[in-house]
Amino acid sequence: MTKTSKTRTALVHGGSRRSQYGEVSEAVFLTQGFVYETAEAAEARFIKAGEDEFIYARYGNPTVRMFEDRISGYLGYEDGFACASGMAAVNGALMALLKAGDHVVSSRALFGSCLYVLEDILGRFGVQITLVDGTDNAAWDAAIRDDTRLVFLESISNPTLEVIDLKHVCKTAHAKGALVLVDDAMATPVFSYAHECGADLTIISTTKHIDGQGRMLGGVICGSKELVRGPIETYVKHTGGAMNPFTAWSHLKALETMDLRVRAQADAALKVADALVGHPKIAAVRYPTHAAHPQSALALSQAEAGGTVLTFELKGGRGPCFAMLNALEVAIISNNFADSKSIATHPATTTHQRLPQEQKDMLGISEGLVRFSVGLEDVDDIIADLLGALEQA
Ligand SMILES: *Cc1c(COP(=O)(O)O)cnc(C)c1O
Repeated sequence: MTKTSKTRTALVHGGSRRSQYGEVSEAVFLTQGFVYETAEAAEARFIKAGEDEFIYARYGNPTVRMFEDRISGYLGYEDGFACASGMAAVNGALMALLKAGDHVVSSRALFGSCLYVLEDILGRFGVQITLVDGTDNAAWDAAIRDDTRLVFLESISNPTLEVIDLKHVCKTAHAKGALVLVDDAMATPVFSYAHECGADLTIISTTKHIDGQGRMLGGVICGSKELVRGPIETYVKHTGGAMNPFTAWSHLKALETMDLRVRAQADAALKVADALVGHPKIAAVRYPTHAAHPQSALALSQAEAGGTVLTFELKGGRGPCFAMLNALEVAIISNNFADSKSIATHPATTTHQRLPQEQKDMLGISEGLVRFSVGLEDVDDIIADLLGALEQA
C-alpha cells in the first residue's frame, strides 16, 4: 500500500471485528483468557491459532488485534504489534532483532529513554552502537557498514526538531543490508512518511497523538508480517510488554478522530510559529515546515506538516523562560506533548535535565529553549496567552 491507505475511512472502519451481537462501537474484550470447547480444540489452537482465535491476552486479544490492524493498515504496513508503552515498543523491537556483536547506527538526538536502551542496555549485551549527527547525510554514509544490522532514528527529534533525510538513510542502510527502525512520535501518524521512505519498522508511542488526550500509555511496532509476527511477536509476547485491552479500545475510539485533531493542531502550530517569529524576546523559532526552520525545505519535501510541536529560544536563558512559563494562563506546564491541552516544557531542567552539559550543548538543548505542544484550544487564545506571557519574560 502507499499513501492512499492514510484515509479517515481507514481510521474509522479499519480492523473492525464484530461479535455475534453486531455492535456499532468496537467491543472491549476485557479478558485475559479464552475458553476452548474441548481439550482437542485447546490443543489445536496451541498448534496454530486461526485469525479469530486467541490464547492469552499477553499473546493477543480481539480488541488489541483490532487496534493493531487499524493503525498498521492506516500507515501502509502489513501488520502491527501493540505494546504497553512507547518504550515497551522501542525496547521490544530492538531486543527482538539484535544479538551480541551486532552493529547499530543511530542518530544522536534521541528521546532519553531510547538513548538509555541503546547505549546502556544493548551495550551491556555486547551490541556496538555508533551515534551520528542525524542531519548529516555524509555521517550516515560513513557510519553504516557492511556488518551493520540495524539503523535507528527519530524522524523528527525531540526536543530540537531536527529533521532527517529519511529516503537517503533508508537507501544507504538497505544497500548494506541493514534494517531501518523509525521512532515516529514527533512526526505524528497523520503526517508520518516513514513507510513511504522505506522504513522497515515504524514505532509509535501511542501515548502521544493516538491517545491525544492525556489518558493512556501505549506503543505499537508496525512492519511486515514476517518481522512483526516473527521475531517481534515472539519476543514481546514472552517478555510481557503487551498492550492492555482497555487501552486498545480507547485508542480505537481515539483513532476515529485523530486526523481531525492532528490537522487542527498542526495548522495551529504553524500559526503560533508565525506569531512568534521576529518577537524581540525570542532568538529563534522552529517548526519543521515553517520557513524559519533551517531544514524546512527537506521537511516539506517529506511531509505536508511538521507535527504539533514547536520550539522557541528565549534570549537571556533560564530566568526569562521560567517567568514566561509561570505567566501562562491557558497552556499548562508539563512534560508530555501531543495533548489536546497546550503544554509548555523547559527541556533543560525537566525531560533532559540528566544529560551532561556537553551533550546538551551538542544537541542544542539550551537554558533558553522552550518546547511548546499546541493543543486544541482556539489558536487565537494560544497566541494571546504566549504573547502575554512573553511580556513577563
Ligand atoms: C514519548 C516518546 C517515547 C516513549 O513513549 P512512552 O509511551 O512514553 O513510553 C519514545 N520515543 C519518543 C520520540 C517519544 O517522544
